[in-house]
Amino acid sequence: MVRIAQDRIADLFGLAEREATAGPGPLPDRYVRLARRIGTRYNVRLLTEYREFYCRGCSAYWAEGRTVRTRLRRGRRVRTCLRCGRERRLPVRERRRGSTPPEIPPVATAQEDGALVGEAPGDSDEDDGSEEA
Ligand SMILES: [Zn+2]
Repeated sequence: MVRIAQDRIADLFGLAEREATAGPGPLPDRYVRLARRIGTRYNVRLLTEYREFYCRGCSAYWAEGRTVRTRLRRGRRVRTCLRCGRERRLPVRERRRGSTPPEIPPVATAQEDGALVGEAPGDSDEDDGSEEA
């Protein structure tokens, strides 16, 4: 039974995706709602990859730019549902190995003791130009 439920959920998300790319309409949201209901009914967790696709607040299928807005804020990916305004914050990193996550400047608390943190390695003023007098 669990297997069937999982298959059905996968089918529904597939359908939702197809409908969402086809154009706006109520169907994707309906598919998401059904999938979630099957999940609760048979006590099957939705895969984490599916959780990227819908709003946990109102079950809207998330189509970028239409029902969800994604912004980078303080090193996090913040996805705001445009239906109900619910936010979902995710760490940025995950996959994309080449790119480095945005640098979050450390909040300087140690200004008094004069110890500089995070100075650039290899300062360029090591050569004074006065080696032969
Ligand atoms: Zn929502």
